Amino acid sequence: MIYLDNAATTKVHPDVAARVLDVMTEQFGNPGSVHAPGLEAAELVRKTRAYMAKQLHCAPSNIIFTACGSEANTMAIRSMAAFWGGRFRHAVTTKAEHESVLRYMKYLERHGWEVTYLDVAKDGTVTAQQVRDAIRPDTSFVSVMYANNELDGVNPVAEIGQVCCEEAVHFHVDAVQAAGLYDLNVEKLQCDFLSVSGHKFHAPKGVGLLYVREPVNVETQVFGGSEQEQGLRGGTENVPGIVGLGAAYSLAMSDPVARDGHFSRLKWKFHNTLQEAALQYGIADRVEFYSGWDEGSTQQKGKILSLLIRGVDSETLVLALSSQGVCVSSGSACNSHESEPSHVLLASGLSPELARNVIRVSFGSDNTVSDAELGAQIIARTAAALLQGGILNGGALEE
Ligand code: PLP
Repeated sequence: MIYLDNAATTKVHPDVAARVLDVMTEQFGNPGSVHAPGLEAAELVRKTRAYMAKQLHCAPSNIIFTACGSEANTMAIRSMAAFWGGRFRHAVTTKAEHESVLRYMKYLERHGWEVTYLDVAKDGTVTAQQVRDAIRPDTSFVSVMYANNELDGVNPVAEIGQVCCEEAVHFHVDAVQAAGLYDLNVEKLQCDFLSVSGHKFHAPKGVGLLYVREPVNVETQVFGGSEQEQGLRGGTENVPGIVGLGAAYSLAMSDPVARDGHFSRLKWKFHNTLQEAALQYGIADRVEFYSGWDEGSTQQKGKILSLLIRGVDSETLVLALSSQGVCVSSGSACNSHESEPSHVLLASGLSPELARNVIRVSFGSDNTVSDAELGAQIIARTAAALLQGGILNGGALEE
């Protein structure tokens, strides 16, 4: 199998899996228990919290472990809304945010809030000036993602943080797609909340975290023991997941130069191979690197390529590719079972028809250059066959 859908989720790194298994089977205590296994489990959580705090440049008490990025996003927005709700009821976000942010904004609107949804550029980003212009006297908070999960664009989050600081409004950063790839120094970003999810960087699913500048401002949404996450998030801690998140983060950040070089090489190999194969199959005029590819740069950034293949229905292509062992997605994973085109692609300026012709290819640190090469060849061949009305026969294409 050639798995090129790492923005949806990643395979757990073998070293992380071994560590997680060890915690599940050997260090399985409940951190709330006072006996030895409990104390041992509490120590594992403490150490991981301290490690992540150091990585994010904050104190351990600023880190709350959650079950996922969506929970972290919900907790951040809910907390900011509760803090300001009585007085200032205007929020600013972008049209390209993750559903977990947008749905909470819709919920706020149903409860009397006004929300400004900023237009985004083709790569899903906004400028700090757009944010500044949208802030009003009654604005209470801004929520902008770090890296876009469909288009790969990176927002100027540090600049936006500066604007929010000057305007004295809260700032939440959804860093779910950025974690493990970009710097999450919360001092530089000047944010009040920042969300992370482990399964996007080779940790297990079911664990995330929220950085909170002022824990006192957090609005609890899972009630439980007062010792759990400083009483801010109830539920017995997912100790194996938390340890796995820390281990995976440390692997992702251990050699940033090698990591960035690896992702750039994968993008280059994929790009060049797809272009050659598209020429070979006579579909070059239909294939466009819609986003995630920087034409003028030798060092490609990010891990996502958004491909527009005119005339090819993305859902049909994704299924045809899957039957040949190549996994990509149409839109984001959360949308890929829905027939509506992705709101992010629409926000980036595509018509609904063209948005249905976009697939997302996303790399992980375990992908090889040959995955990128073979994946690109099979994508071009399959798209060409679909365009020519070819059919899939026992997993092989009739050409
Ligand atoms: N934010 C972004 C930008 C995402 O891409 C995702 C998941 O795709 C999430 C939040 C939600 O993360 P989780 O799947 O951990 O709930």
